[in-house]
Amino acid sequence: MKKIAIVGCGFSGTMTAVHLINNAVEPFELILIGDQDTFNKGVAYTPNSRNQILNVVASRMSAYPDDPGHFLNWVSTLEEYSATDKGLLANSYLPRYLYGKYLEDIWHKAVQAPGATRVKITRKDSLVTDMDYSGQDISLQLKNGEQLVVQYGVIASGNHQPANPAIEDSQVFNSNKYFRNPWTTNVFSHTDKHSPVMILGNGLTMADTVLGLIENGFTSRIYTISSHGFSMLPHKHLGIAYNAVAGELQGNPALSDLVRILTRHIRIARRLGFTAEPVVDGLRPLTQQLWQNLSAAEKQKFMSRLRYLWDTARHRIPMHIHEKLVQLTETGALELNAGKLISITETGNAVKVRFVNHGSGETREITVSSVINCTGPATDLMKTDDNYLKRALQKGIIVQDALLLGILADPATFCVCSNSFEPHDNLFTIGSLLKGVLWETTAVKELREQAAGLAAQLVRRIH
Ligand SMILES: Cc1cc2nc3c(=O)[nH]c(=O)nc-3n(C[C@H](O)[C@H](O)[C@H](O)COP(=O)(O)OP(=O)(O)OC[C@H]3O[C@@H](n4cnc5c(N)ncnc54)[C@H](O)[C@@H]3O)c2cc1C
Repeated sequence: MKKIAIVGCGFSGTMTAVHLINNAVEPFELILIGDQDTFNKGVAYTPNSRNQILNVVASRMSAYPDDPGHFLNWVSTLEEYSATDKGLLANSYLPRYLYGKYLEDIWHKAVQAPGATRVKITRKDSLVTDMDYSGQDISLQLKNGEQLVVQYGVIASGNHQPANPAIEDSQVFNSNKYFRNPWTTNVFSHTDKHSPVMILGNGLTMADTVLGLIENGFTSRIYTISSHGFSMLPHKHLGIAYNAVAGELQGNPALSDLVRILTRHIRIARRLGFTAEPVVDGLRPLTQQLWQNLSAAEKQKFMSRLRYLWDTARHRIPMHIHEKLVQLTETGALELNAGKLISITETGNAVKVRFVNHGSGETREITVSSVINCTGPATDLMKTDDNYLKRALQKGIIVQDALLLGILADPATFCVCSNSFEPHDNLFTIGSLLKGVLWETTAVKELREQAAGLAAQLVRRIH
């Protein structure tokens, strides 16, 4: 019997497995490998606080591309939401733990469905620590000591924890006052509630961490520092379709044309009292195609000059969360800084953070009790701790894209490329590791399509 192993069981691994089970024709063994705590839910939907919310409204969070109302309908059946107006619910940002429950429910239904008897489902509550490839079979070494040999492999292990910041003295990275992984509960339970903290980064994870700290009784001042200094923007014009921009972006526009066209449309939107939001959202269905059409030099230019601007316009937060952050800033409980980090040094019970302020050019030193790294997932595998993908890279089984945003793969088949740039026909990937290839590949909207497409590829090949 052929064996398919899926490494990582967050949204991507779970939904690929669900489509595989639902579409199985011939028998095969499906082996799911991942840590028990985040099984089905992944990092995003195993939040370290119950109040952390989705950054996309309920009506857009279906796990199925061909059933857009699936999540909303599921939520409506829950007792706690049964009396809530459905229109309101559709436009609500619901708790992330609830989405984790939704994925667990999808999984339980899939394994209990009649078609599931055609598939031998094996679950390994462990992590893959190493991978080898014979040209035919894929060999996976697990942390629990087991070794598996499979004919098909899916790399669905999602995001890595953030990279450590580039500072000269790296001693602090071994300290229990430095949290490299912002997505664990330790961040809240091991932080001194009554002394200041420093958050590195100024994005969605920063917002989650600030609110999580406060929810857990934190009473002192929270500082943040980011190199770009852009402030988070709220979702203001939800659901407004701006179609004019897409019509002008046919063909292969160069980066300079893209910027020119977008700037003009943003000006038009602003004249009518809107922000850039509808224009940026209007681009979403085209983003992957536009990215793929850019030359290597244009992608490089985008990364060095426009990336942070794009990320700020694209990754917005719900209005009420934005208002809360503004309020915290106004009362002085939250201080956002833009600057270049120089050093983070542990001294006795405290940590001193030094940076050059972008505005004034002055060097500032802030003393805090801990530092939380919210700079976003590391994408350069060589900067991550020892893991199976870093080893696979060193062995030439996989190769990174030129911008080191992920790994190279054929976006049509999801087949991962080796260091000779040839796609393997039995090793696949999905999700954020495709960022260098597709750019827009982290949210449910893209991943649900990918999971269905990848499962179809596998079903075709296995039979
Ligand atoms: C905090 C946060 C909030 C988000 N909120 C939203 C949102 O509201 N809406 C939205 O559309 N998107 C959101 N996203 C985007 C999110 O990335 C996707 O929605 C989706 O959850 C990604 O799933 P994934 O399975 O690809 O990766 P992950 O969720 O990272 O899952 C990967 C899994 O692989 C496991 N794994 C890692 N290494 C190994 C290994 N060596 N061996 C075995 N298993 C391994 C991990 O433990 C994890 O369980 C959010 C992301 C984050 C980080």
